[in-house]
Formats: sequence, structure tokens, C-alpha cells
Amino acid sequence: MIKSLFTLLTVFGFAFATAQNKTDYWQQHVDYTMDVNMDVDTFQYTGTQKLVYTNNSPDELNRVYFHLYFNAFQPGSEMDIRLQTIPDPDSRMITEEKVSRISTLTDSEMGYLHATSLTQDGKQLNYSEEGTVLVVNLATPIAPGKQTTFNMEFKGQVPLQIRRSGRNSEENIALSMSQWYPKLAEYDFEGWHADPYIAREFHGVWGDYDVKLTLDKNYTVGGTGYLQNADEIGHGYESPGTKIKKQKGKTLTWHFKAPMVHDFMWAADPEYIHDVQQVPNGPTLHFLYKDDPKLLENWKKLQPKTVEAMEFFSKNIGEYPYDQYSVIQGGDGGMEYAMSTLITGDRKFGSLVGVMAHELAHSWFQHILATNEAKHEWMDEGFTSFISKLCMGEIMDLDKENPFEGTYKGYRNLALSGKEQPQSTYADRYALNFAYGISAYSKGSIFLSQLGYIIGQDKLMETIRKYYTDFKFKHPVPNDFKRVAEKISNMELDWYLTDWTQTTNTIDYSIKNVADKEKSTQITLERIGLMPMPLDILVVYEDNTKETFYAPLRMMRGEKDNPYSGIERTVLEDWPWAYPTYTFAIEKPMSSIKAIVIDPSQLMADVDLENNVWQAE
Ligand SMILES: [Zn+2]
Repeated sequence: MIKSLFTLLTVFGFAFATAQNKTDYWQQHVDYTMDVNMDVDTFQYTGTQKLVYTNNSPDELNRVYFHLYFNAFQPGSEMDIRLQTIPDPDSRMITEEKVSRISTLTDSEMGYLHATSLTQDGKQLNYSEEGTVLVVNLATPIAPGKQTTFNMEFKGQVPLQIRRSGRNSEENIALSMSQWYPKLAEYDFEGWHADPYIAREFHGVWGDYDVKLTLDKNYTVGGTGYLQNADEIGHGYESPGTKIKKQKGKTLTWHFKAPMVHDFMWAADPEYIHDVQQVPNGPTLHFLYKDDPKLLENWKKLQPKTVEAMEFFSKNIGEYPYDQYSVIQGGDGGMEYAMSTLITGDRKFGSLVGVMAHELAHSWFQHILATNEAKHEWMDEGFTSFISKLCMGEIMDLDKENPFEGTYKGYRNLALSGKEQPQSTYADRYALNFAYGISAYSKGSIFLSQLGYIIGQDKLMETIRKYYTDFKFKHPVPNDFKRVAEKISNMELDWYLTDWTQTTNTIDYSIKNVADKEKSTQITLERIGLMPMPLDILVVYEDNTKETFYAPLRMMRGEKDNPYSGIERTVLEDWPWAYPTYTFAIEKPMSSIKAIVIDPSQLMADVDLENNVWQAE
């Protein structure tokens, strides 16, 4: 009975919205030109980097910081020590004996990235390395609105793959090159974000990349950026029918350009198969995966699914703005990058499509809507989880019953465990990886599905589209999203953003009492949890007819449309939050009522579902 009452779900609807930009917003700009030589035998590389940096901030800058992420993969690094001290380390990063894999790296296996010279507008600079961050004192301060040019020489060594990037992955991909170059830290309205690389999450400066990679000519390369010399390179990038001239020498120089991105990833392997698919009126898709008979069938079937996923996200979030996207076998699971992803390839078909859909969705929720993931991890992982679940439902024809059931179960598990920390916790500072994971992915996904419960599904999807239009190619923060939702819904939602993302307050409403009063029935509800919510209440009568009642939350200053078309709804008086109980009457005798249910959609993340249902004896 309970189960069947909980399946009255609304369908997610979609709508358009128009543009409106903030006028007081600013962001920094970078133009990178890099020339890199990779020795595929020693996994060592050298490079030059010309970086033109535009200070659009209102502040004079006398220091800058670069990330040197590969320095994390050294014994004794912060990443190593954290791995050794966190109670639930990432299983990919420890040995079977539960020893940190970083601690076992030898000199030739560890990673490093060092600047060997650095100038600013021709003047030598003083700099020092602090683990994964290069601290640079400027020769000349950069005034607001001014540009400066840094010229750096750097050398690096690709670590054995421990996490995300590295050499010789478990699936034997030679080079998964993410977080590989000296990358300027972001300076925004909150100041510098020169975050050490300890476990996770990134924040980068928007700009244009021009990258030349020289390596063994037998390696096929994929990643961020459009290949400029495709007809010289070949490897499946050449225009159809082009004859590739035999190159003299042992290496090829690949030239990529990527406009308006905030990261640059590449991967290379001598055994990649390279397939190309065209999305109708959309980008070209590239697939790079090992020439391995056990991968072939799934990776071929993956390609039309990627076309469908691209179309789904473009329709429901906003049009994909680049001309290219690459799905590349590499890395250690799945990780999103600009215009591309690295995923492990030896998976069952459903899992392969699932990881592709998740990482592709990140193109929007991180690589176009570039939130500071370290601070607002729920806005990229959560929003991505939400939209990729909807996408999977559509492209894999999954059972349409609540696709978020497992997500809510995971959240309840965390909320009731006593281990929850607020979602505003900095990503590296969760006490447990378990708490980070559920908070970022599940609770972050529920932020949206539950917002759909509060403002209505159509308004939710309209909010997502408007958020994309207003904040693409920027660094939106939580309040930006909330403001869009407020304008679309005509509701005040600060209580929602605050309680859900900055506290561990939980939602628990119950049906406290049902009583006969002359010819009517009095229903008393109770708010047990601290977090406020508006309530949908379903009443099922003995003759199986249904009726709903809606108790808006007073501080919302608004009401949603009836989510259950076809079922009559009565809008009740507002429930002012501070009152622990709330009573309303139904003008029918108690004997005619079979059951009463709070939120039959189960999109409200009530931590105790038992007391949401009343049934006649
Ligand atoms: Zn993700």
C-alpha cells in the first residue's frame, strides 16, 4: 500500500527562458601558448609557456600563484599524508595491504612539475615552490584592467597513475595527461584560490589555449582543443580522403587550439582506435579507445548513445557551445575536462553509457558553468548527477518510476549516520570520503529534484535553462542559482539554500493525528525536523477517489502550480515555520478516508517516511 501510494510522480517538463546578465561581474582572463616535448620512454617532458594574463579585477596584484599538480604524487606530499590519515581512503590510491600507493613511488615513478625559469614582461621573477603551488612575487604589480606576459620554462615527470592523471593506467593507457602543466590559480571576487592539490576539485581561469605537443609519431592523441594540422597528422583526424604524407623523424608535433576553456587535458596511446561521429547540427564526437576485442562492441554501441546524450543536454540545459567533444579511454574511473572526458573503458554497456552521460553532463556543470568546485562541489557533482539520471532514463529507456530513489536513500543514510557535514564544507576538509561523496553527489542532486517539488517541475527546468543562459562561461556561486530560481518561481528561497547547503538540518514531517469532528475530519501535522518545507498531502478515500491539499510555507511568499493535474487540489493557509503543529479539516467523515500521505512524489527528502503515512484501521 505505502509503496503504491508513493508512485504518484510528476513528469519533468522543459521550458525556455531569456537572457539577463549581471553588470558588476568580472573575471580574469588567460591566453596560454605552450610548446611541449614528451619523451614516451622516460615519461619526462619539457615545455615553454607564454601566458598573457589580463587583470580584470578592481585590485592591483603583486603576486600570482601557479598550480603544479604533479608534485602531489610524491612520497610525503600533502596528498600522500592525507591518504595515510583519512579513515576511509580512496581504494584506487592504496595497495591491498592498505598502504598509500604514493608512499611507494620511486624517483623514476613519482610525478613532478617544476618551473626552471620565469619572467614577467622580460624581467626575471623570484618564485618558490610550496608543494603543489608555485608562489610568484611580481617584478611589476598588475594594475586593474592591465595585461602582463609571463614566460616560463618547465620540466615534468608523469607519475605512475595514482589518481586521475598519470602513465600506464590500470587499463594500460600510456598517457592520461590532466593537471599536467603549470596552471595559473584563479583570482576572483573572493580573492586567490591557490588551493593545494590534496584530494579533489578544481577552479581555473577562463581563457584561450594554443598548445603544441611533440611526441612519438606512433601515438594517437586526443583531448581538449581543435587539431590545427589534422591533414599533416592523420591518425583519423584528417579530412575524409586526405592522403597523409609520411613524416620523417620519430616524432609528430600536434597543434591544438581551444577557445574559452579553463583547463586543457590530453591523452595519448600507441594502440588507440579513433572513431568519429557527427551530431546532427551539433559537434563532432571523437572516441579513442584501445584496440582490444573485448572493448570493441560496447565502444561502438556507445557512440550513438553519446549523440543522444549530447542532444538531451543541449535541449534541456542549453546548446553545447563547442564544435567538438572527445570520449577517451584513460584515467581511473571517469573525470570531466574541457571538451572531453577520460573514462575507464572495460565496463558493462550500462556502466559505460552511465559514465559517459555523467562526464558529458559536466561539460555544462563545470566546464561551461564553472563553479568553484572545491567550495561548491554539490553544484557540479550534484547538478551533473541530477541531469545525467534524467538523461539515462530517456536514452536507455529505463523504468520511469522515481529515478532518484537510490539518491534519496543514500542521503538519508548519511543524514542519519551522524557523520554529515554541511555542503558548504571545503571539498578536501570532509572528515570522511563517504560524507563528501554523498553530500556532493546525492545531496547535491536532491537540491534540484527537491527544488522541483518546491517550485514545480516546469519552473525547475526553466530555472536550469535560465541559469545556463545567464552564467555560461562564468563562475556562478550558489546565490546566483537561487536568485534565478526565485525570479522564475516568484518565491523567496533563501531558507532553502541556507538550510540545505549550509547546515545539516533535516526534514521530518509527520501525520500526528486524524480525528472525527462532527461530519468533518481534522488532520494534525507535525514538524519534527528543523528544516522548513511546504507540504503536498494526498488523501485517498474508501471509494479510491483522490484529493490533494497543499500547505505552503509562509516564508516562501508564493505557491506552486498543482503538480498533479487531474487530481483536485485545495490550497490551505500558509504554515508559519515556528509552529510545530498545523491542523486542517476535510469536509468528509473520517470513515470515508482510506489513507493520507505527505508528499506522495517522495521528492521531499524527509528523513523518516514511516510517519508520512496514515492508514485507516
Ligand atoms: Zn562528476
